[in-house]
Amino acid sequence: MKNQELTLLEVPEPAEIRDWATENGITILAHSYQEGFLQEAAHFVGDSLELARYAAKANAKAICFCGVHFMAETAKLLSPEAEVFVPDMEAGCSLADSCKAEDLAAFKEHLTRKLGKRPTTVAYVNCSAAVKAQCDIICTSGNARQVVESIPEDEPILFVPDKHLGGWLNETLGREMILWNGACEVHELFSVDTLKDMQADNPGSITITHPECPKPVRDASDHVLGTAGMLRLVKSSEGETFIVGTEANMIYRFEKEAPQNTYLAAPGASCACNLCPYMQLNTPEKLWASLHKRGPQVDVAEELREPARLALERMLAVV
Ligand code: SF4
Repeated sequence: MKNQELTLLEVPEPAEIRDWATENGITILAHSYQEGFLQEAAHFVGDSLELARYAAKANAKAICFCGVHFMAETAKLLSPEAEVFVPDMEAGCSLADSCKAEDLAAFKEHLTRKLGKRPTTVAYVNCSAAVKAQCDIICTSGNARQVVESIPEDEPILFVPDKHLGGWLNETLGREMILWNGACEVHELFSVDTLKDMQADNPGSITITHPECPKPVRDASDHVLGTAGMLRLVKSSEGETFIVGTEANMIYRFEKEAPQNTYLAAPGASCACNLCPYMQLNTPEKLWASLHKRGPQVDVAEELREPARLALERMLAVV
């Protein structure tokens, strides 16, 4: 059946989709930034680190990845025997796009000449497999501190691609890493002025923001946490109101796993929702069609597989 015909079919309920996928040997993974329907249809929902760990251990024969392209590539690297496919191949990432492999190679050469030695390159997982293949170790927002701390203090470090996460690591760990000038367009939109207005309107609330947010927003927060850290905090809290400064679909997971609290999406400067436009490309219709087509498939060029996988495995060995 053609994709176009399938999208015209009525999409079943999330549990039916999951059961259908199970019967057909497909594991559905979903990132926490996906809409609630996709999270409900998935066999496993997590942040980048949780999904990487799951993909490495799942022994799945086929994975349908509801997330963005670099995440599906990561699943393919860690689960090379599996067919990996996605609901929408166009679901990319502005942060990953801000660091092209050829530009990174040229900058590393420049730094090596300038420093007289090759810097250790740490890459936030939000980058392409071609960039990962050039890096020594990968990190996620959940383990970035431990990964950077695992590198000797006298080693020069180049951190790519997120300047805000890198800046937060420099501040909190007292390091002087050289930062790539990249940013996530969703987290960059949070505005400190509108955040302060929301805090004033909700006295007693607790503001939690992601380290991908700009410094003025982080400085106005009670806690700066990766998504796993946020989840731990809200689960251990009772009757609190949280202002949440990350992609707004994360609130779906909070409300499901910690319904005892109230959650407010932190506002952006020009938009109240802060939804990732790339994640939004994945829809229930496209998921259903992709399961039937077992495509579009995501692959990684053979020469990139080994170095990119090694950089990921060094991360998994640290935490
Ligand atoms: S939220 Fe930002 S970093 Fe995450 S996928 Fe979207 S654009 Fe990329």
